[in-house]
Amino acid sequence: MAGVEGGVETVRVELGARGYDILIGEGLIGAAGAEIAARLPGARAAIITDDNVAAHHAPALAASLEAAGIDATTIAVRPGEKAKSFPVLEEVVDAVLAARLERGDAVIALGGGVVGDLAGFVSGIVRRGMKFVQVPTSLLAQVDSSVGGKTGINSARGKNLVGLFQQPALVLADTAALDTLPAREFRAGYAEVAKYGLIDRPDFFAWLEANWRAVFSGGPARSHAIAESCRAKAAVVARDEYEAGDRALLNLGHTFGHALEAATGYDSARLVHGEGVAVGMALAHRFSARLNLASPDEAARVEAHLAAVGLPVSTAQIPGALPGPERMLDYIAQDKKVSRGALTFILTRGIGRAFIAKDVAPAEVLAFLQSVMEPTMEPGAAR
Ligand code: NAD
Ligand code: ZN
Repeated sequence: MAGVEGGVETVRVELGARGYDILIGEGLIGAAGAEIAARLPGARAAIITDDNVAAHHAPALAASLEAAGIDATTIAVRPGEKAKSFPVLEEVVDAVLAARLERGDAVIALGGGVVGDLAGFVSGIVRRGMKFVQVPTSLLAQVDSSVGGKTGINSARGKNLVGLFQQPALVLADTAALDTLPAREFRAGYAEVAKYGLIDRPDFFAWLEANWRAVFSGGPARSHAIAESCRAKAAVVARDEYEAGDRALLNLGHTFGHALEAATGYDSARLVHGEGVAVGMALAHRFSARLNLASPDEAARVEAHLAAVGLPVSTAQIPGALPGPERMLDYIAQDKKVSRGALTFILTRGIGRAFIAKDVAPAEVLAFLQSVMEPTMEPGAAR
C-alpha cells in the first residue's frame, strides 16, 4: 500500500498553502507531541475535548505533548451536540485566552465531530486565527468531520449555521482510540465510510461488503477503510474546498437523513446522525430506482449491506412515531439544499455513480415518501 510507513498511513489533502497530512494508524496519540512539534515548532497548545473522551485519552495526549516540550492546557466540555452553542463557545474562547495562548499556538481538538467543529471554530476566531490540529476519536470524525475544514456551531435556527472554513495543520487519526467508542457510535460512523463507496468508489463498496467484519474488529482492515475514506474525502475537498459544486456529493443520503434527524428532534436516543444517513442512503437509492435512474437490484444491495452491519434502512426502524410524508417533505424543503421550488438531491445511477440532481419536483418526493412510509395510525383510530 502506498504511503504506509511503520504501520502509519499518510493521506495528503492537496490545498496548496493550506494543504496538510492526515496520519492514520494505531497509537498515534502517543506520537502527537513529536508530530506537532515537527510542524509547529515552539507552539504551546490548548487541548479541547469532552468529558467522555478526556477520561479515556486526554492523559496520553497530554503526556505525549509534555514529552515533546509542548506546554498544554486541557479544556473539557460536556459531551453532546449542545456543546456546539454560543454559551459553550464563549466559555472555551475565554479559557483559551486565559491560558495566554497566541496566534502561533495550537488548538488541538481531541474528540468526535462535536469537539472538532467547536474547537476548529475557536481556533479560527481567537486572535483572528490560531493553528489547528485535529485528533479525531470517533469513526465519524476520523473519516469525515476532521477532514475538509468545515467548522462551526449550531444556531437556534438550525444546525451548523455559524462557522467558518478553517483547515487544520495536521490530522492524527489514532485507530486504537476507537476501541473505547460505543458500538452504536462506531456503526453510525460506518455509514459515512460506506457512503464514499456509494458516491464514486464501487470497488471500495464491494471490498466493504466482503470485509466489514474485519473493519469492525480493528487491525489493518479498519485502518485501510479509514485511509480509503480520507482519500475519498480529501479528493473531493481538493476539487471543491468551498462547496461551490462537487463537494455536495458528500451529502448523499443527507437530505433524507437531515429531515429524519429534525423530525426526531435531534434526540440521539432515537436517531444519531449516521443512522439517519443510513436510512437516507437507502431511500436515495430506492428513490433513484423509482425514477428509473438505477436498477432496483442495486438499491436492494445497498440496503442488504447497511442492514448486515446493523444500521437502519427504513423509516419503520426508527423508534417512536414520525410525522407523515407531507410533514417530512416540509423538513426536506427546510434543509439548506432548496432553490426556488425545485429540490436538490444526490441521486444515483447505481453503486458508485452518484450525481447532483438540481431539479427534483417536490411532488415526486412526496409520492415516493407516501410509497415507503408506513401510514401512521392515530391511537384508537381505525385504519
Ligand atoms: P460526537 O462528537 O458527539 O461523539 C459521539 C459520542 O462519542 C460522544 O458522546 C463522545 O463523547 C463520544 N466519543 C467520541 N470518541 C470517543 C472515544 N474514542 N471513546 C469513547 N467515547 C467517545 O459525535 P460525532 O458523531 O463524532 O460527530 C457528530 C458531529 O460532527 C455533528 O455535530 C455534526 O454536525 C458534525 N460533523 C461535521 C462535519 C464537518 O465536515 N465538519 C462532517 C460531519 C459531521
Ligand atoms: Zn454525515
